[in-house]
Amino acid sequence: MNNTLENLPPLKDVLQKHDLFAKKSLGQHFLLDLNLTDKIARLAAPHEMVIEVGPGPGGLTRSLLMAGAERVIAIEKDERFLPALQDIVSVADARLHIINEDALRTDPANLSDIRPLRICANLPYNVGTKLLINWLTAAPPFWDRLVLMLQKEVAERVVATPGNKAYGRLAVLAGSIAHGHISFDIPASAFTPPPKVDSAVIVLDILPENKRFGDLKLLGQITAGAFGQRRKMLRKSLKPLAKTHSIDLNDWLTKANIDPTARPETIDIAGFHRLAQSLTSFNQPLDKRA
Ligand code: SAM
Repeated sequence: MNNTLENLPPLKDVLQKHDLFAKKSLGQHFLLDLNLTDKIARLAAPHEMVIEVGPGPGGLTRSLLMAGAERVIAIEKDERFLPALQDIVSVADARLHIINEDALRTDPANLSDIRPLRICANLPYNVGTKLLINWLTAAPPFWDRLVLMLQKEVAERVVATPGNKAYGRLAVLAGSIAHGHISFDIPASAFTPPPKVDSAVIVLDILPENKRFGDLKLLGQITAGAFGQRRKMLRKSLKPLAKTHSIDLNDWLTKANIDPTARPETIDIAGFHRLAQSLTSFNQPLDKRA
């Protein structure tokens, strides 16, 4: 009898029953150990509404439901997984909804009116960073917590501090809206098939509203310019952006109190905020400028 979540068959059997094999092009590496998916799910649930990206055979999906996610909406691009996921839907008492779409084209904010949402995902490596940047820069923010399994190297970039070689665009964007920490590492051997590198589970908790930086899109442009050429001094790397905004680069850097010969990895998050704020003030009428 499979009429409860607890009675669903082991994930290995689910893969076999539905003839499912991993496709490299979709970054498919499955977590078949439900103890591990339970541990991840407990970082996101209980919660009223959890969005999952890439449920695959549904291990984390089951764990989220069992950990007390009242509702789960799971976005899966690969339609081969739909029958296996349907088996979970059939025992989930209308708490699980599956969407067969590309998460890169799906704005989670539009999937539910409930706020705040929570996102929990074992992200496909090839789209993980892009999705994270989309969610970090969403305006207004629609989530209170992101629980994401990422390549360990990417997770380290999210929580890196200035001066560290992992410090860059991701750390500045993430630190401008959330407090992040790595909860635990997952060795490559825990996945089927194992990827080439280890993973880590990262938790990002949104900052109180008065501590969040307002214009993440502009911050995204500035950090893309600065870290796109991270070995160059800011007076070189930010030149194209100053030109786009028709402002004088030296005036901009002086106003933001940034040394033009500095390299981006030495500028702390507050320094990038000053760059964004002063750039905004140049675009305002003269009597409104800071
Ligand atoms: N959550 C499952 C687990 O932990 O075993 C599978 C994780 S696997 C690393 C990534 C999953 O994301 C796969 O099911 C894959 O088909 C799906 N996926 C890949 N690209 C996607 C996209 N653009 N949108 C939605 N799902 C995607």
